[in-house]
Amino acid sequence: MRAYRSAILRFDDDRSARYEEDGLLVIGPDATGRQVVRAVGAYAALAANYPGVAVEHLPGRIIAPGFVDLHIHFPQTDVIGSPAEGLLPWLENYTFPHESRFADPDYASEVATVFLDELQRNGVTTALTFATSHPVSVDALMQQAQARGLRMIAGKVLQDRHSPDGVRDDTRQSLIDTEALINKWHGKGRLGYAITPRFAPSCTEAQLRGAGELAAQYPDVWIQSHVAENKDEIRWARELFPQSRSYLVCTTASA
Ligand SMILES: [Zn+2]
Repeated sequence: MRAYRSAILRFDDDRSARYEEDGLLVIGPDATGRQVVRAVGAYAALAANYPGVAVEHLPGRIIAPGFVDLHIHFPQTDVIGSPAEGLLPWLENYTFPHESRFADPDYASEVATVFLDELQRNGVTTALTFATSHPVSVDALMQQAQARGLRMIAGKVLQDRHSPDGVRDDTRQSLIDTEALINKWHGKGRLGYAITPRFAPSCTEAQLRGAGELAAQYPDVWIQSHVAENKDEIRWARELFPQSRSYLVCTTASA
């Protein structure tokens, strides 16, 4: 076992926040050998229970649980901050050409390494992330996340229209690939799968309907997408789905 003495921020089972100005965190193996938290609380109350355990003192630091990032794109690590007049030209000029490179598993794996290094360096241990439309991009991320014990929830992007060659997928195949990836990764260790229509303008109604059917069939997977980020995009979504009551709610005669 080993222990750390510093300020500690933590969350109890009832979800209330607790802050110890002078806390102690004790870590050690459980019955299966996995490193787990054995005790956490005020240093004054706990220290006497762990004689002989080496304590690393970190004055001026705060120990906190791993951060959770609810929206991130692992393949966009190299295009963060690229200049554009808005979302749509940014996708066309930077993101789509860049994401087309993730058809190559070696490249996807290289970027996954940098991405996960950066998450860990910033204290993020759980993230809900987009991959690209290529199934191998999901494999590259998940394999490395599993090896590092990180909780990644990710999905192959669905985009069967208004997308250039290299990232556009095929309606039927995209749904087959999504289901195969759910079976391969969802619930494996700390990993989870998210059905990932990029945004409504990039998906045909057939693809959106298929995504909905998969969500109904696998009710414990996540769903992630984008909605209403930019005025030009909102205008475009309204043109594409004139029957819909809102960007989120589809109201068609057949539904
Ligand atoms: Zn996004």
